[in-house]
Amino acid sequence: MKYEVKKQMYEGKAKQVFATSDPSIVMVHYKDDATAGDGEKKGTIRDKGIVNNKLSNALMQKLEKEGIPTHYVEEINDRDTFVKKVEIVPLEVIIRNVAAGHFSLRMGVPEGTPFKTPILEFSYKNDDLHDPFINHYYALALDLATQKEIDTITKYSFKINEILKKILLDANIRLIDFKLEFGRLPDGTIILADEISPDTCRFWDATTGAHLDKDLFRRDMGGEADAYQEVMKRLLG
Ligand code: 5GP
Repeated sequence: MKYEVKKQMYEGKAKQVFATSDPSIVMVHYKDDATAGDGEKKGTIRDKGIVNNKLSNALMQKLEKEGIPTHYVEEINDRDTFVKKVEIVPLEVIIRNVAAGHFSLRMGVPEGTPFKTPILEFSYKNDDLHDPFINHYYALALDLATQKEIDTITKYSFKINEILKKILLDANIRLIDFKLEFGRLPDGTIILADEISPDTCRFWDATTGAHLDKDLFRRDMGGEADAYQEVMKRLLG
């Protein structure tokens, strides 16, 4: 291994983060643990950690090739990856192409209704407050990010949407919506962080409309472990 793995720095709902011998690099370990409804529902999805690690790494490498800077450094094994250490910008960026989930609840628009143009939303990343919906004025007023950072994040997010939509459609998957997180490097550069996976995206089979994502777990529909495997098979072969 390129870097020696040291102490655990942080444990989240789905991942653990470890320090390494290089202060600019951390190791992410992907778990099978799944939560939903703000942690009210807890469970595991078999081999989810493997799918999310491999899929997120593959997608981030494709995004890098298209000019999006990401935290990806090197996949170590099925569940562990070295990534650049960042300070996470406390904004969750959600891009929506089709009405679903909280959008449908909030706006009374049936799930599956396509939008004329994609929507970008911000939430304040704060579990205690349940990631409240905010706009960019909140982010500026609370100093969560600068205008320049918001402009960069917005530009990258729409570009990521276009790239991912195409990659997924080639695998007969519709990208309904997804959540992104960005981080700052020590010199202030904004890069894509966190993960892109069936935990953080809504994927629907483009022919049947079947859910191929964490909604199967969130909504107690069943079949989530097989759906994660199916997404990995279609995208990574
Ligand atoms: P919604 O706002 O409809 O619940 O979610 C919109 C999209 O963002 C979905 O693809 C969902 O997976 C993702 N998303 C939003 N918030 C979170 C979150 O806190 N965790 C995860 N894993 N995904 C989220």
